[in-house]
Amino acid sequence: MDERPLPPPDSPELAILPTESHRLLYGYLYLRRDDPPTMREIRAYMTEELGEAPAQTDRRVRDLRDHFDVPAVRSGTEHRYELVGWSKVKKDGSRRGFSNRVRAEVLAPQRCAQCGRRPLEHGVVLVVDHKVPREWGGTDDIDNLQPLCEECNAGKKAFYATYDEYAEEIAAASMHPEPHGRIGELLKAFRGDWAPSSLIGVVASMQQYQEDWQKRLRELRLLGWTISSKRAKDPITGRVNTWYRAEHWEPWPPGSIRAEVARRDPSNKRNKT
Ligand SMILES: [Zn+2]
Repeated sequence: MDERPLPPPDSPELAILPTESHRLLYGYLYLRRDDPPTMREIRAYMTEELGEAPAQTDRRVRDLRDHFDVPAVRSGTEHRYELVGWSKVKKDGSRRGFSNRVRAEVLAPQRCAQCGRRPLEHGVVLVVDHKVPREWGGTDDIDNLQPLCEECNAGKKAFYATYDEYAEEIAAASMHPEPHGRIGELLKAFRGDWAPSSLIGVVASMQQYQEDWQKRLRELRLLGWTISSKRAKDPITGRVNTWYRAEHWEPWPPGSIRAEVARRDPSNKRNKT
């Protein structure tokens, strides 16, 4: 673990950041450590100071995370970006923080969780992978870790990078307390684009593993949603897979979504009077 204190904004240590704009952003987050800003505030500040476009600011926040721990902490309906300390992730994505015990436990199956290849038979190198990426709120809990070969790991990283423009919305969707809500918010974030089942499954399982998330997705239709699906190649698995798209959605019920789904489910016997 890297427990060095955070450098003040004028510290020469910040030469590790790629540009002056990154250092400006760091300075802002540093000064607001006790009252972390929302992304809206960060964007407003960077626009004010540099005339920067929001997408550029979002990217700079992600760049900062190469070096510093800046979790998005939920506060009401928004997220606040708190500069906590030095990152525990090395630049190459490997972890400083895992103990040998955790690493050994995760890698014990000696088999890539995705392609099934083994180090001895196939000459692959296994690494510890976060099932739910850390940038999207995934934790270091053992349940969120799996062995992947370097090749699958690189493929997965490249795949998730293609969803960078949705990073904020994916993180927000993953915070929803109910699986229906996480799936629905993710589909909404795609604004009518197709979302692959590999991504939906990951987001659906963010707070609690969902074995049958496809059923939760279908149940959204009971709430008046229109969701279409198609079969196409999934870039994560390389296999033909299902993709989903929300064509129409409804506001969430005021109480529990699960209860509302059960109430509207025609196969639910209690509904037959
Ligand atoms: Zn693999």
